[in-house]
Amino acid sequence: MRWKEQLLTLTPYQPGKSIEAVKRQFNLERIVKLASNENPFGCSARVLSTLQTYQPSLALYPDGYATKLRETLAEFLEVDADELIFGNGSDNLIQIISRALLHSDASTIMASPTFSQYKHNAIIEGAIVKEIPLVNGDHDLDAMLGAIDEQTNVIWVCSPNNPTGTYIPEYKLISFLEKVPSHILVVVDEAYFEYVVAEDYYDSIKLTRQYENLIVLRTFSKIYGLASLRVGYGVANRAIIKALEPAREPFNVNSIGQLAASEAIHDQEFVTDCKEKNRQGLEQFYLFCEENQLSYYPTQTNFILIDFKVDGDLIFQYLQERGYIVRSGKALGFPKAVRITVGSSEQNEGVLKVLSEFLEANRGN
Ligand SMILES: *Cc1c(COP(=O)(O)O)cnc(C)c1O
Repeated sequence: MRWKEQLLTLTPYQPGKSIEAVKRQFNLERIVKLASNENPFGCSARVLSTLQTYQPSLALYPDGYATKLRETLAEFLEVDADELIFGNGSDNLIQIISRALLHSDASTIMASPTFSQYKHNAIIEGAIVKEIPLVNGDHDLDAMLGAIDEQTNVIWVCSPNNPTGTYIPEYKLISFLEKVPSHILVVVDEAYFEYVVAEDYYDSIKLTRQYENLIVLRTFSKIYGLASLRVGYGVANRAIIKALEPAREPFNVNSIGQLAASEAIHDQEFVTDCKEKNRQGLEQFYLFCEENQLSYYPTQTNFILIDFKVDGDLIFQYLQERGYIVRSGKALGFPKAVRITVGSSEQNEGVLKVLSEFLEANRGN
């Protein structure tokens, strides 16, 4: 078969071993997964109780326009209903954008390391990928501007960035947006938006009003705790949404996901509570890093990238054998680091205790 050549250079996303597989392999009773930045507190109780009484018509297609979710979210964000697009997770929106704008005569710009799916989808579409190294964990926006060429169609900005947790302050993003030619789509991926506490973070929804070439991506997978249901959304002016819509599959967001997400929006108390607990959890990690003189990037998210100055896979293995699944920095562009999702305070204490044991056992080596 004549596969797209570039497809043969790609490997599927490696989601890591399942909790069950790790349990069996190491004969463990309890596994704590701190690898995918999921919410350790689950989702809003309000969502759970709504789903319990839901009598879904499983034989019927979902509402392809996601009417109820659209109306609820539009009201919450104070945008118009036609300024939103929904995805089967924001991953799906990255795919839709790539499909709509990237091809073998197009180039696209992103940071490195950043979220893997921008590059992955760009390669599938055959586009030229320009990766601009982070500087101290931050996007080098000037270098990204410098990389723009005649063929550039999309620039990806991940803020806060995965896997560093760093964010772009308002003045920097605005000065960047001012300079990007208006025919280039700027995608600002804000998967961790709800966790941000920095005061100079920008109001991206407002920026979509000012910059007609900006789309903001958010998700219900992280703080809302609905990763399994796959719901993400994009906010942009209606011309962008209108152009993207034909590249979206007609029934890409399932009925249960639509219902759960609309209910989740109504429980902002849950969101605020998780955000607060996350900051407390981060303090546990910061203290550990300082006590052990480990460097890390201050983070605006629910994960932290810690530099252990040894092969990240070693730490990953050591933790896995003791019931903690984290993400080795190896596959994330930081070979001597691990990325750990902030868990409940008990989970954090547990993983940090094992990490202390690792450091103790390896002292002087
Ligand atoms: C988790 C994550 C996503 C994907 O979220 P889904 O909505 O679950 O597809 C997108 N971007 C970044 C930066 C992420 O970390």
